Amino acid sequence: MKESINNLLDKQQEFFRTGTTKSVDFRLKALKRLKAIINKREEDIHEALYKDFKKSEFESVLSETGIVNAELDLAIKKLRSWAKPKKVRASMLNFPSSDYIYKDPYGTVLIIAPWNYPYQLAMVPLIGAISGGNTTVVKPSELTPNTSDLIEDIITSIFEETHVTVVQGGVSISQELLSKRWDYIFFTGSVSVGKIVAKAAAEHLTPVTLELGGKSPCVIDETAKLALAAKRIVWGKFLNGGQTCIAPDYIIIKDEVKGRFIKCIEEEIKLAYGANPKQSVDYPRIINTKNFHRLKQMLNEVTVVVGGETDESDLYIAPTIVDEPSLESEVMKDEIFGPILPILTYKNNDDIDTIIGHFEKPLSFYIFSRDNSFIEFLLEKFSFGGGVVNDTMIHYGNHKLPFGGVGNSGIGGYHGKHTFETFTHSKSIIRKSNWIDIPVRYAPYEGKIKSLKTFFKLFG
Ligand code: NAD
Repeated sequence: MKESINNLLDKQQEFFRTGTTKSVDFRLKALKRLKAIINKREEDIHEALYKDFKKSEFESVLSETGIVNAELDLAIKKLRSWAKPKKVRASMLNFPSSDYIYKDPYGTVLIIAPWNYPYQLAMVPLIGAISGGNTTVVKPSELTPNTSDLIEDIITSIFEETHVTVVQGGVSISQELLSKRWDYIFFTGSVSVGKIVAKAAAEHLTPVTLELGGKSPCVIDETAKLALAAKRIVWGKFLNGGQTCIAPDYIIIKDEVKGRFIKCIEEEIKLAYGANPKQSVDYPRIINTKNFHRLKQMLNEVTVVVGGETDESDLYIAPTIVDEPSLESEVMKDEIFGPILPILTYKNNDDIDTIIGHFEKPLSFYIFSRDNSFIEFLLEKFSFGGGVVNDTMIHYGNHKLPFGGVGNSGIGGYHGKHTFETFTHSKSIIRKSNWIDIPVRYAPYEGKIKSLKTFFKLFG
């Protein structure tokens, strides 16, 4: 650490108090500087991601730089209108007045990012923090050193540290950061660390966004187009080596179509990654030995029907299908976060309820079916962050949809305009007029209650 975190925080808070970041011109200039440098360094970003866990260039564009560039372009295009105070209809109860919502920056914000989309999950919140007019400290993941060094390099080369900076480090640095008083904390990571963040934030009543994980189910009924479902599930499950918060965690399929579905999945894995996925340039590796062992352990005492090969020296785990594990097995205990896909079966809707009800509210939910009443039943029955019917993960790609969890899978949401909303407080303002003063509300109240009730009935 070049300087103490206290010092840094003091400087950022002091800079925020100057009001400089409240200027929309200042924010736009900052976003444009960011755009120029990330355009220039795009190849370096892809290279860093490859060095960290053999992520292919295609996947890096699809799930990292492409998303960041689109968010940045949108923020640059829309910031002036997002940041303008919005006039809302005034209440007759306050007549005569003009009512507004002002979008106020929080102040100095902390962004803590995970390793699995190490560039995107640090940069998209940062775009929101800058757009919102905050000063920001970003703590990228210690598990992707190449990408995190590059993020630091990019940010420190274009921003004063009083405005935006990076603090690198692992758990102890993260905890030191969390012990300070921030005006907002945006955390992406595991549920267990999310609870640590929430506790630390509660100490100062700091508002938080928690983008967490969980076991996201994928329900398939007998009306689904099985081959197409298998193709879309293989894509969503094995992208990034299965290390995606919204990857389908496990399948619940109607018992009579399971056999056919497994054949389709096996076929699709071959089509995507060849007979030996280890040789595919498109198939990423597990991030580190600890996670490799965590995943390998899940393969003990279960029936592997596809894949199952592992190589510790290369941190390789093949795309793997596990048949009917018990809900108590290792693979069903927690979020898998790797290329292992358990398949459970159901006979009736109660079975689906029993399985999904066994877990906390998931981050995502996927349904493959052509039966609208079944689809509507599932959508209404279960609480989850967001989901897709007849595909996987693509809800992440529409910036008009707020992305986030519910309950155990997270608090808050972002993307597109929602990111700007996340990093600003909606300050409600009434400008009351002076030309008339309706006397009903003032004491003495005697004889006024009837008029008050009528007023509420008419205008409340
Ligand atoms: P993680 O929770 O281990 O780490 C996330 C960040 O927290 C890192 O920067 C790390 O340094 C810090 N950290 C780790 N332990 C800490 C502690 N004890 N105290 C304070 N800070 C600590 O998560 P990860 O392994 O990097 O990422 C995987 C998890 O993130 C998965 O559970 C996944 O579902 C979730 N995730 C969620 C989203 C989402 O958008 N909802 C996106 C990606 C990943």
